[in-house]
Amino acid sequence: MRIMKKIYEGKAKIVYELDDTAEECLIEYKNSLTAFDGTKKDSIAGKGSLNARISAKIFEFLSNNGVDTHFVKLENLGEDRFAHVCKKVTILPLEVVCRNIAAGSFSRRYGVQEGTPLKNPVIEFFLKNDALHDPLITEQGAVSLGLATPTEIEYLKTQALLINELLRYFFDRLGLILVDFKLEFGRTSDGRILLADEITPDTVRIWDKKTLEIVDKDRFRRDLGNVLGAYEDLWNRIQDNPLIVGEHPSLKFHVFFSVRMHPTVPDSSGMILKRALEWMGFGAVSHVVSGRLMRITFTNAMLNHELVTRLTDVAQNMLTNPAIEEYLMSFEVESGTSLPLIKESIKRD
Ligand code: UDP
Repeated sequence: MRIMKKIYEGKAKIVYELDDTAEECLIEYKNSLTAFDGTKKDSIAGKGSLNARISAKIFEFLSNNGVDTHFVKLENLGEDRFAHVCKKVTILPLEVVCRNIAAGSFSRRYGVQEGTPLKNPVIEFFLKNDALHDPLITEQGAVSLGLATPTEIEYLKTQALLINELLRYFFDRLGLILVDFKLEFGRTSDGRILLADEITPDTVRIWDKKTLEIVDKDRFRRDLGNVLGAYEDLWNRIQDNPLIVGEHPSLKFHVFFSVRMHPTVPDSSGMILKRALEWMGFGAVSHVVSGRLMRITFTNAMLNHELVTRLTDVAQNMLTNPAIEEYLMSFEVESGTSLPLIKESIKRD
């Protein structure tokens, strides 16, 4: 492998072309640290290489659990410079945030005490746009602007919730509580959606289970000091932990197929119900379509591109008659399969 020219430099990373493949690129982690929309800046020697190694281990753990990611391998460039060889993707202009405990912008926006456990994990989308300060965007907003299709939004939410289950388990094994995190996804040239970017203390909130000490970028945001020490602490916890290769936390999710008659096909059950409704005085009912709902539950599996492709095949060839029926596939993740959700509020002194 030989690094070719720099193709992009952002706030936290530099992307290079590789001479031996057009499908992959090299992403180097920088030492720079920014917060509050880039208004607070610093550079900490050694932070980039720590983050590259931390993110590599987390991506390996997620890949071992069936998550489709852009990560290929960690590359030591020498002189304490580390990079990731990654599959080339076009990053979706959406940040996907998942929260277990109120903190940061969620606490500010809704006036909720930091440390308040959420009854269920919350997914939020933010538009990646520096000029607009990355505003919160609704699912309908994202679809209406053509940033993702409804099916892609459904897939991103399910991915984020399943990754949350995996990461909560991962950090729990390291003696840490996962408060929230941000994910980015990218599209390959053949249309697959892969988990991309990084998962590091710059993009997650993690608190020590016993001391509640902050082990992430909030140390920098809030001038708590010892930023590098916290990142080193995390790396030391991760480094020799066997769970990265060995352990597979249990995941559970449901796939729903709602099947209904194609609108152009005469639907006798629908017509009978329509007549009954008219007889009961519902004069304004113009059409009734009948159908059926199927729920398939997966345990100890991951929803990824391969599974969706196979399920689509099953739906078209087994579950429905495509000549007269149409279907919609949707997903539901069971939270707390790997680890029960926190119920007690977490109060720091
Ligand atoms: N986050 C991130 N990049 C961003 C914004 C947020 O990695 O541009 C992460 C952040 O570290 C936290 C989570 O996403 O783990 C939720 O961040 P929040 O919306 O609370 O914003 P913040 O208060 O961190 O600005």
